Amino acid sequence: MTDTANQEHGKNWWGSTIGKLKSALSKTKEAVVDSVVDHPSTMETANYSQTTEQVKAPVAAPPAPPRPLDDDYLEELEEKLIKADLGLATVETMIGHLRNQAKQLGWTSHDVEKFLHGEFQTLLQAAPDCKLQVKEGKLNIILVVGVNGTGKTTSIGKLSWRFKSQGHKVLIAAGDTFRAAAESQLEIWAQRAGVDIVRLADGSDPGAVVFKAIQRAKEENYDILIVDTAGRLHNKTNLMAELKKIRSVVDKNAPDSAIECLLVIDASTGQNGMQQARVFTEICPLTGVILTKLDGTSKGGIVFSISRELKIPVKLIGLGEQIDDLRDFEPELFVEALFS
Ligand code: GDP
Ligand code: MG
Repeated sequence: MTDTANQEHGKNWWGSTIGKLKSALSKTKEAVVDSVVDHPSTMETANYSQTTEQVKAPVAAPPAPPRPLDDDYLEELEEKLIKADLGLATVETMIGHLRNQAKQLGWTSHDVEKFLHGEFQTLLQAAPDCKLQVKEGKLNIILVVGVNGTGKTTSIGKLSWRFKSQGHKVLIAAGDTFRAAAESQLEIWAQRAGVDIVRLADGSDPGAVVFKAIQRAKEENYDILIVDTAGRLHNKTNLMAELKKIRSVVDKNAPDSAIECLLVIDASTGQNGMQQARVFTEICPLTGVILTKLDGTSKGGIVFSISRELKIPVKLIGLGEQIDDLRDFEPELFVEALFS
């Protein structure tokens, strides 16, 4: 699969290579796989003292003896998976499946890794697997919503650079007018990505920014308009009013456009991210998720809860702070990175 992934890399630059994904997901892998299953074929490193130098060589450790999948084992596994941020409902369903399979097939702890592999693949199939695609011949509008600090502005910068590199004409709208710093930050990203930006005076109405941006996008034939928004979740009524207004400006002024509404979730917030997703689903219809900061967190298991409980496809993943660190989410490769 590594080879296949690398071949794919040539065709689809925006996907992740297995190597990049594996290193970004190493802590999540530790939490959701390594600390959970008995590895029958664990490798350990032994030191051989030799006369002139020390040589370290990997040797196969004796397999851990299989344990029966009794109530004690299953309870322990359930606790570990919950701790790994997979979400209570998801874990309970999974343990139920394992209990049944274990009874029917006489499984032991040595079968748990294989079981989890299959379950993770199935969980990711619960949401449609669809990548972010640009519809040719019309204006594509991407609204980017989410709580402050999750990575909206950064992801917009990365995404506009990607679209620009693919030859599209990209405009971004500075719709987070609440924090002046947010607009300047977006301007810096626009420069880096080499795309244009519509920005009004600080504190302007975000609806007015979006209106102006749509007008310009139509007049100057842009392919893609990406809209940054504010994310003050502590004031849900205001946030709801603001996002509804932005959406109605879009619907009224660009009824023929292809519209995406992407929620940005910071993977390192684990189950809090799920709570945010539930709130935003009430506020505006979402077409996908951008899951940021997967690099370095152990809480990447949230991807399974999003898929199973929210049924919203994760479309993009953030694997770092560089401009090319936003990749298409490829469910199979994601699972592969956790088990290889
Ligand atoms: P916003 O308030 O939602 O617009 O969030 P920002 O775009 O300002 O991002 C908040 C912080 O998260 C910044 O320091 C970003 O560099 C950082 N960030 C965003 N995405 C990623 C990612 O995928 N990985 C890492 N490591 N940091 C990220
Ligand atoms: Mg921002």
